[in-house]
Amino acid sequence: MSPDFIPPAKPIIGDDERRAVDAVLASGQLAQGSEVAEFEKEFSSVLLDGRAAVAVNSGTSGLHLGLLAAGIGPGDEVIVPSFTFAATANSVALTGATPVFADIELEHYCLDAADVETKITDRTAAIMPVHLYGHPFETEAFDAIANKHNVKLFEDAAQAHGAAVNGKKVGTFGDFAMFSLYPTKNMTSGEGGMVSTNLPEVERRLRLLRNQGMERQYENELVGFNARMTNIHAAIGRVQLTKVGAWTRTRQANAAFFDANLEGITTPKVAQGYEHVYHQYTIKVPVDRDGFAKALKEEFNIGCGVYYPIPNHRLVPFATSDDLPNTEEAAQSVLSLPVHPSLSKSDLERIVEAVNTLAKAGS
Ligand SMILES: *Cc1c(COP(=O)(O)O)cnc(C)c1O
Repeated sequence: MSPDFIPPAKPIIGDDERRAVDAVLASGQLAQGSEVAEFEKEFSSVLLDGRAAVAVNSGTSGLHLGLLAAGIGPGDEVIVPSFTFAATANSVALTGATPVFADIELEHYCLDAADVETKITDRTAAIMPVHLYGHPFETEAFDAIANKHNVKLFEDAAQAHGAAVNGKKVGTFGDFAMFSLYPTKNMTSGEGGMVSTNLPEVERRLRLLRNQGMERQYENELVGFNARMTNIHAAIGRVQLTKVGAWTRTRQANAAFFDANLEGITTPKVAQGYEHVYHQYTIKVPVDRDGFAKALKEEFNIGCGVYYPIPNHRLVPFATSDDLPNTEEAAQSVLSLPVHPSLSKSDLERIVEAVNTLAKAGS
């Protein structure tokens, strides 16, 4: 009998989330209301050291509205990684601005500050790096570049709830930052996004943009969207927020177990002073990556993720002839093992055994 399938990700939804949703349903106040307002306050205090938080209906909406609120639009260039989920570049393109792709570094697979500097032009309005896989990008280097060239810094923190650099949390570095609350992220609201900002003007425009341009009912001030989060989603998110810290510690313990026991592959590195929250535990394999992923699934019944097999600069909507060698290398050689907090000790042992066996066979 083959052992149970180990999924690459697994949202944890329990009785607390069910009760919270039920209470909202019983109240009849389904759309954006007090649950959303409480969720924003709690998210701000738990994950953002008090910086303002604005809830929206998805992480992608958060990026899109954040860019618009910060004044990004046609004629602007925003430098982004190509090695990320397409939402990063999509949100830039949706404002009418142009996403410009820069290469990544191969230690943490985040945007490479030195390459970004070569991509700056007189149309560059902002840089939007991603805290990829839950490891913060080089915040100090990007702060310095943004200041030197007088461009804005935004954070795609979709995968990095609670990550930090020398104790300072991600989401508190840029003019705005976005956290995704999609089910496979480190915490969820079903679908949803949270945007943080320390600029009162940006916060106000975010609140207007998500609600048809209205602060007061029917006194529309600008052309806006319906990007509101519902009370139902916020109720789930509020419960998850009380648990994400413990889940992160479990992810980190799982990662430490892999670090200590995996052989023959490259394990993730963590920069000095950086806190990695292991949205993904991403390894680099010395052999045919796709074959490795297939064997994990077929021979060992273990799921894994390949993020991201086609870099954005080669996707149809963005196709460019950019030369991004590190991006190409990562796209061909990395895969992400299950590291989520639902893994049992025997799951972890099975994963180690399978990866070590395949690495040995392939080398
Ligand atoms: C998930 C994700 C997004 C988009 O978030 P959604 O909530 O799915 O819209 C954006 N950027 C990155 C890096 C992501 O991983």
